[in-house]
Amino acid sequence: MSGEQPRTIHYNKYYGSMQTLLDRFDRRARADAFDGKSAEDFAPWRRKSRETLLDLLGMNRMEKCPLEPLVDEVTELPAADGAPMIRREHVVIQVEPQTWMTLYLLIPETIAPGKGADCPQVYLALPGHMGAGKESIAGRAEIPAVADAIRQFNYDYGLRLARMGHVVACPDCRAFGERRDEDRRGDSEDDFLGSTCFQLAHMAEGLGETVCGMCTWDGMRLMDYLEERGRTEGWDVSSFGCVGFSGGGMQTLWTAAMDDRVSTALISGYLYGYKDSLLLLCGNCSCNYIPRLWEHFDMGDIASLIAPRRLIVQSCRGDHLNGPRGLDNVYEQLDIVRSAYRLFGAEEKILHDIREGEHCFHPEVLEVL
Ligand SMILES: [Zn+2]
Repeated sequence: MSGEQPRTIHYNKYYGSMQTLLDRFDRRARADAFDGKSAEDFAPWRRKSRETLLDLLGMNRMEKCPLEPLVDEVTELPAADGAPMIRREHVVIQVEPQTWMTLYLLIPETIAPGKGADCPQVYLALPGHMGAGKESIAGRAEIPAVADAIRQFNYDYGLRLARMGHVVACPDCRAFGERRDEDRRGDSEDDFLGSTCFQLAHMAEGLGETVCGMCTWDGMRLMDYLEERGRTEGWDVSSFGCVGFSGGGMQTLWTAAMDDRVSTALISGYLYGYKDSLLLLCGNCSCNYIPRLWEHFDMGDIASLIAPRRLIVQSCRGDHLNGPRGLDNVYEQLDIVRSAYRLFGAEEKILHDIREGEHCFHPEVLEVL
């Protein structure tokens, strides 16, 4: 309405904190980056770095307990377009006392009992934001909201891997899907696709815990379950593949960095420098943040812990999450990772798959697995 008195006043100048923090990042970051010369130097660095990270992530405060697995629902997905019939089990396992992980286990009919070492690799397919947790990863396109999320991000990489003949575990990570906390347990599309990882990060912080730590812990517990299950089923569970896009890429990074049972890691849409992507871009979900992490390591240092195992990084040229310098912020971190792989003569174990466009998973990369 014209003539009405404005309800606020305008400031011509602001006095924020960003520049101080950026400068402090430059002065303090990466104090524990690898500074050795050889593969022999690398092993003690990795051991010490993992100890530091177990503390920063809050994982040394977490409690182990019996898994008490329960398969409470089985659905058969018919064979299609030359891909096998899939048995989809809904499974619940206990990851910490009173904390349960819900997951789908996708088992292609081609995985017959007793096949042992002939069995293709078993995969963890980890979810990102706004895909209803495991529902989009397991390709439940019969749910319209999930179908849209799959169309937007190609989120159904779990189902795609199963159609390729792999046993695939598609979990709800903490605060996603059936594991949402009280704030977002509604059936509205926003609540159903969304998550309470933002709230969980706040709930955890004062107790010295983090969402990254919880998800890493849960990924390890999931591998414990798959080892148990695989031994009775005759699957090859001597190592695992791990795949994830966006928040699923974050979980893949951490799980592979902290647990050598992951022999192949495919990180899509989540490998870049912290300064540009999580300090300068400070509107990302709280589940990305770990108190004091940047003083010790940048993301390339964490990914270096995966050396010399197989690492596939997928980046989109137009992904705004790379930060204002775009792929340069990715290349710098991959240079750190490459220098670690070089110690092992294993640079060829890294593949950087660059795609055009915005933040999105490109399933063509699954072919290289
Ligand atoms: Zn989040």
